[in-house]
Amino acid sequence: MKQAKVLVFLIVSSFLFAHDHDLENSRKIIFPDIPGYRTLKCDLHQHTVFSDGAVWPTVRVAEAVIDNLDAIAVTEHLEYQPHKDDIPHPDRNRAYEIESKASENDSLIIISGSEITRSMPPGHSNAIFLTDANKLLLDDPLEVFKAAKEQGAFTFWNHPNWTAHRKDGIATLTDMHKMLIKEGLLNGIEVVNEYTYSDEALQIALDNNLTMLGTSDIHGIIDWEYDVPGGGHRPVTLVFANEKSTNGIKQGLENRRTVVFFNDMLIGRPEHLLPLLKASVTISEAKYQKGKQVLNVTLHNNTSCEFQLQNKSKYTLHNSGDLVTIKPLSDITIEVKTIEVLDKVKLNFTVLNAVTAPATHPDVEFEIDLKGTN
Ligand code: ZN
Repeated sequence: MKQAKVLVFLIVSSFLFAHDHDLENSRKIIFPDIPGYRTLKCDLHQHTVFSDGAVWPTVRVAEAVIDNLDAIAVTEHLEYQPHKDDIPHPDRNRAYEIESKASENDSLIIISGSEITRSMPPGHSNAIFLTDANKLLLDDPLEVFKAAKEQGAFTFWNHPNWTAHRKDGIATLTDMHKMLIKEGLLNGIEVVNEYTYSDEALQIALDNNLTMLGTSDIHGIIDWEYDVPGGGHRPVTLVFANEKSTNGIKQGLENRRTVVFFNDMLIGRPEHLLPLLKASVTISEAKYQKGKQVLNVTLHNNTSCEFQLQNKSKYTLHNSGDLVTIKPLSDITIEVKTIEVLDKVKLNFTVLNAVTAPATHPDVEFEIDLKGTN
């Protein structure tokens, strides 16, 4: 009886171990580099107990490491510290210091920042790449933005669609935002915050030359908020950087080189989104079915994002309709009816899960050279 119990325990524990191991691998957020740039996975809006978050700063580092992120920013509310009776630390750089120390042995980059927390306008904004967050503790919000700029900060408008600030959820620039943008004091906008996406914020970014960002704005625990065990993931900003460094990320953000990854959506300007799509879905094999005019094409998804492609080629498909789904890090083989055996085949798809502007989906083209294989 005792022996049987031990055996059951061993089976259960090895099952649990295998499961944990799979979860650890499958939760990694993976995207390929694009020509000329590293693709850095960044979550630039987070909280800990040093403002209104529920965890100690070291937890943010551990979560980011297992999610395979390249960088996170520490953005505690400057003006809101509900835990200050229990954690009476007056130094607004403290959470950053703890995270920096905790990440010493990882390749994770920790970026110093603060959330400027005001009613509308201007609402909430993040200033990141700060040298001293304490110097932002000023009354006049305009002076806070100026003090951030003096430190060389990159600033962005947080959740412009937040229904606590606008009941209709429609992101709309106020005169104050227009002034901040004009003065170079506001550089970016969240098109994705936590569980929400904003077409209007995307349009504001395009119209005003602002950087697009997507952030978790995590207060609780990533696994619970984003159902990581169920296959979910936090929103991230992919920053295209010359190098993996704080400065590389800063330059990428300042030059608007970003794509936002939210659920299975990719949001970005064509100049960055298109090369990313090209690197993300590649053809791993193409071969005619023996003695037939049906071409088997295997598409490989190199990313953590599920792709929804709509066939826009001049050929129809034999094993599906016009919609093709490719699961993360997986292959799918489509059968293309090319009518005759060809040396060169062009395939065109609209990427339905990607947007370059509200309700605007980019197209990708594949040129397959079959010379000598037929
Ligand atoms: Zn926040």
